[in-house]
Amino acid sequence: MVPLVLSAHVRAFFSCMSLPKSQVPMWALLPFRFHPTFFTSMQNTLPCITGFAPFPLSSCCIHTAPSIQLLTDQSDLAALPTQFPANKVVLKNMIYNELEDWVESMGHKKTRAMMLWRWLYGRDKWVESADEIIGIKKDFKQLLQDTGDFGALALQNIYVAKDGTRKILFGVEEGSTIETVVIPCDRGRTTVCVSSQVGCAMNCQFCYTGRMGLKKNLSTAQIVEQLVVASRLFSTELGPITNVVFMGMGEPLHNVENVIRAANIMVDLHGLHLSPNKVTISTSGLVPQLRRFCRETACSLAVSLNATTDEVRNWIMPVNRKYNLHTLMSALKEEISCKKDFKVFFEYVLLSGINDR
Ligand code: SF4
Repeated sequence: MVPLVLSAHVRAFFSCMSLPKSQVPMWALLPFRFHPTFFTSMQNTLPCITGFAPFPLSSCCIHTAPSIQLLTDQSDLAALPTQFPANKVVLKNMIYNELEDWVESMGHKKTRAMMLWRWLYGRDKWVESADEIIGIKKDFKQLLQDTGDFGALALQNIYVAKDGTRKILFGVEEGSTIETVVIPCDRGRTTVCVSSQVGCAMNCQFCYTGRMGLKKNLSTAQIVEQLVVASRLFSTELGPITNVVFMGMGEPLHNVENVIRAANIMVDLHGLHLSPNKVTISTSGLVPQLRRFCRETACSLAVSLNATTDEVRNWIMPVNRKYNLHTLMSALKEEISCKKDFKVFFEYVLLSGINDR
């Protein structure tokens, strides 16, 4: 059995991009969020919703996706950490300036920070321990072995669908799991969908993650690590990762500090070096955090809209009760006007009889 838990944002995003179904592999991977039984339940129950989703869990149909298999012979798997990291300095929690300061505070030249940064994030490097680094001074290597933690997540499983989409399951502290999805495309693009929280506080009525409530914000390192591990595992086979979407578990802007830091690491020229317009953060509409995100990164924004009136949006996305459509749209207009060539994507999931007329 393979229970699948991913944000509605992923599917909504692809639907807004008007891709033909054959190019939307996640439709096959995410059957239960919008399973017909769930729609029926939703239509019957929505009028009386006041708080948390009132649907019985069974109506969400967590069921087996027959096209998905566990990858048991993934040769790289053995090279990746399967244990939670020890209590050391988590290197991927630091943006570059902080790494420089840390290296200096440990009695080494600042310039060694760049060398380390390139080994952590550089193309075809993505090292998992100090032992893999070559060409650095012995004392610096010793420091990294003694005090640096290169990982941030425990790899648990990898699943692959017939269309080539991979789902990576990671363990985080306290027995929670998160998911990362790698979506290849025959047009030379490979997208990684990352999670930003364990669970979610936003309580969107069509979303299974929302039912869990918020368990934990992921750290900067735990967000970045999802991309690093995906690159390490699949770049040889699928080519470089070209796009990142924050559309996995969680509301990214509810963890805005770590998401901004992680996004800025992802687009750093000397490291992972993704184009800012290919790193997209999806939000349900947290207006103050959205403004901060627009001002502190050059990355792209997608807004999960899902309704055109406050009446319906209040109903299916409770965040609208705090930041209604007028507030959201005004903030977007203002922020866009301060930026050059900045586009906002709108995601819209059609729910039969609810927001489709
Ligand atoms: S914001 Fe949270 S509850 Fe809403 S769709 Fe995204 S993950 Fe689900």
